[in-house]
Amino acid sequence: MNNSKIVSELEKVVGEKYVSAQPEIQFLYHYDFITAEPEGKCDIAIIPNSAEEVQEIVKIANKYKTPVVPWVSGINFGSIATPRKGGIVVDLRRLNRVIEVNEDDMYAVIEGGVTWADLKGYLEKNHPDLRAGITWSPPGTGVVPACLCYGMFDLGMLGGTGAEFINGMEVVLGSGDLIKVGSCSLSNYWYGRQPLPDLAGLFIGWEGTTGIVTKMAVKLWPKLPYRTTYLAIGAKMKFGVPVMLKLSKAGLGICDIYFVNLGWLQSVQELNEKDVIKDPVKNKMPDFFGLLTTQAYTEKQHKAQCEAIEAICTESKLRMRPTEETQAPIQLWGCWNFARGGGGQWIGSYCSTRDIVKYYEQSREICIKYGRPPQFYSRLMFGGHYCVARTNINFNKNDPNEIKIARKLLKEIHDVVQELDGVVMYKPPKWAVQTYHDKTLPATSDLIRKIKQLLDPNNIMNPGQGIGGD
Ligand SMILES: Cc1cc2nc3c(=O)[nH]c(=O)nc-3n(C[C@H](O)[C@H](O)[C@H](O)COP(=O)(O)OP(=O)(O)OC[C@H]3O[C@@H](n4cnc5c(N)ncnc54)[C@H](O)[C@@H]3O)c2cc1C
Repeated sequence: MNNSKIVSELEKVVGEKYVSAQPEIQFLYHYDFITAEPEGKCDIAIIPNSAEEVQEIVKIANKYKTPVVPWVSGINFGSIATPRKGGIVVDLRRLNRVIEVNEDDMYAVIEGGVTWADLKGYLEKNHPDLRAGITWSPPGTGVVPACLCYGMFDLGMLGGTGAEFINGMEVVLGSGDLIKVGSCSLSNYWYGRQPLPDLAGLFIGWEGTTGIVTKMAVKLWPKLPYRTTYLAIGAKMKFGVPVMLKLSKAGLGICDIYFVNLGWLQSVQELNEKDVIKDPVKNKMPDFFGLLTTQAYTEKQHKAQCEAIEAICTESKLRMRPTEETQAPIQLWGCWNFARGGGGQWIGSYCSTRDIVKYYEQSREICIKYGRPPQFYSRLMFGGHYCVARTNINFNKNDPNEIKIARKLLKEIHDVVQELDGVVMYKPPKWAVQTYHDKTLPATSDLIRKIKQLLDPNNIMNPGQGIGGD
């Protein structure tokens, strides 16, 4: 690749200041700084300021058949923004504007590099009666990638995954063409994806391998005045989970409901995993911690909801008390530094609510076999229609032996939980994606490849990543 020629063409698009092929700048984009996945190589970093500039960048990349990797903060836990095959990393953080908030239809139109801090700050200042669903990732991570990658928000119980929060998009395709999908393709309103053919799916779950989203409308929700968050504590996951499932289906104004084991709770408290109890069940300690938030429009309605929640817990002998609500976005340092050394990765999956306990018990057993405290977390989604289940592992990312062991442990969990029908990993690293092709019908894999080819004819978009990639 003739870098200097490409750099000089790119400089004409964004200005000298916003392109770099200097090693000290490239280095920042080589890898996902928390995972154990292998490094990539960023040849050129560029920071555009408009959709038109993104279009020009993609056209230049097509001319030189050089890879293009969309990037907001690159800490997605799966290393899916790591430039596997070199090329241009498009850092989208200058595209950080909230363009419009429609209070009537409750959505915000944002640019492709808006972070959680940008969005939350803007809403609090300008539209205090509305809120977004927010992740627990650090405030400087991206909203658009979280939606595109089926992220999990603190309003997941109301709205489902991040992908279900998307109303419409403006996208620069891998070919360099600019398109719009959703109601915004026919009007100035971005209220939804209905009733046209739903083309949003061409960009959701593809890990930036089909196009770069330059604008997205995301759903917002009303802030209701009465809210209570409860903490439920139980001896074992198998006793606590059925109660949470019952609560999720009882119509009690619950906007968020999730549960963790003792390992996860200890990690977020910034403890050192060497000092904590690895197997609470063996030590007869509680290993189930459920959290839920209920909200209501009137005090009377709220009181009735709280009473019903407390009654269901009492009936099931689950200890329950009001607690403080977590204010996302948040710096959960502990959960990536539990083992000290800053490395973290997960086997994070969507699955049937039937399999939560099995998922936990199987992954827990593997962690304990390796002498590691399991960090388990599950969230019930979209009124209890499905759930997220995931087990995290931490490691010292400067110790190759620890990385080797962590990777072996994660693969073992992955292979075992795959046996539970319906467990599908999200934001999967490449090694996990490969196993999908063995499972899908050949015609399904073939269709995925054809779509990818249509949208990205020169195979320049984030190559080596995602289900459609090589
Ligand atoms: C401690 C911690 C906690 C976390 N908690 C959560 C959580 O609760 N819920 C959750 O969902 N996630 C969570 N995450 C994961 C992740 O950081 C977030 O989902 C985040 O919002 C994604 O943004 P990013 O900047 O990391 O994306 P990036 O890593 O920059 O991008 C992710 C993927 O999207 C592609 N991409 C980026 N921008 C675009 C674009 N504009 N158009 C097309 N493709 C694009 C990239 O190429 C890549 O494949 C957590 C991460 C950490 C470190």
